[in-house]
Amino acid sequence: MPPTRTPSSARSIETIVVDGLALAKSIRSELAEEIAKLTASGARPPCLAVVLVGDDPASRSYIKGKQRACGGIGMRSVEHLLPAETSQGEIIALIDRLNRDDSIDGILVQLPLPDGISAAAVARAVDPAKDADALHPNTSGQLLAGTADLISCTPLGIMAVLDHYGIPIEGADAVVIGRSNIVGKPVSLLLQQRHATVTMCHSRTRDLPGICRRADIVVAATGRARMVKADWIKPGAAVIDVGVSEVDGELIGDVDFEAVQGIAKLITPSRRGIGPMTITMLLRNTLHAYRARLGV
Ligand code: NDP
Repeated sequence: MPPTRTPSSARSIETIVVDGLALAKSIRSELAEEIAKLTASGARPPCLAVVLVGDDPASRSYIKGKQRACGGIGMRSVEHLLPAETSQGEIIALIDRLNRDDSIDGILVQLPLPDGISAAAVARAVDPAKDADALHPNTSGQLLAGTADLISCTPLGIMAVLDHYGIPIEGADAVVIGRSNIVGKPVSLLLQQRHATVTMCHSRTRDLPGICRRADIVVAATGRARMVKADWIKPGAAVIDVGVSEVDGELIGDVDFEAVQGIAKLITPSRRGIGPMTITMLLRNTLHAYRARLGV
């Protein structure tokens, strides 16, 4: 697909604005083809179980989007909506039933969970073979060892964007801002496995602007709106903006998007950027889990 280029008269670099939606669609059509072949040969379609605890409207809309994405590629999905007052034991009992249900291939528990529920305990309850969101400690351990089949969805989406747009990773200086278990840590490992030299930054990092200025690849995953300024970016760097913050009803990324035009070689926008890739990698993981369990 042709990249969107931003003309820049005053600056020397034409910044590629990543079309994450178009890339996601093209990967999803490959996944759909794979599923169509499997079902044509008599196999049942893969199925993702989505668990939502509570009635947070944003979470509800996220799971609807994920279920629509499943339907779009011929994957089944089932939802389990539990009231906010559901106990941790009841959530784990449901996960246990889903673990033992042969018709379920992937399990996703939508985060955040209500106060008082341990997200770590819930993640541990999911059968690692069905760990579509890749949050089980076994899955994280496999990622650390470089042997994981199921990999955190957002980091996998980031790597797919870098590869699709031909960003060199081997030998690159990569700076990851944020050290969460779902984005910062796993993407650092994936970049390192592809031979980047990775610096992980966080809220106590000294001289973050100076560290960023050395980077060929910047991954910003903090949720701090427009924190990364244009003069933090080395000319020609690839900038992956994962952060999403709502400011005055608008979704804003971690990077000052307009200001880095003409400086960065590539940037992901806060809409149609990494978000659609994250959902696509959830589908990819569910299909992988299905293939591994069924041996097809
Ligand atoms: P967390 O809140 O778990 O982690 C945020 C990280 O940012 C922490 O490591 C924190 O440091 C660091 N941080 C916060 N403030 C600063 C600062 N001023 N300078 C440097 N580092 C800072 O967030 P997540 O990783 O879960 O998500 C990050 C963002 O990405 C959020 O906006 C989230 O909505 C978005 N997101 C988007 C996805 C998508 O598909 N588009 C998917 C997942 C997340 P410390 O550890 O020191 O506290």
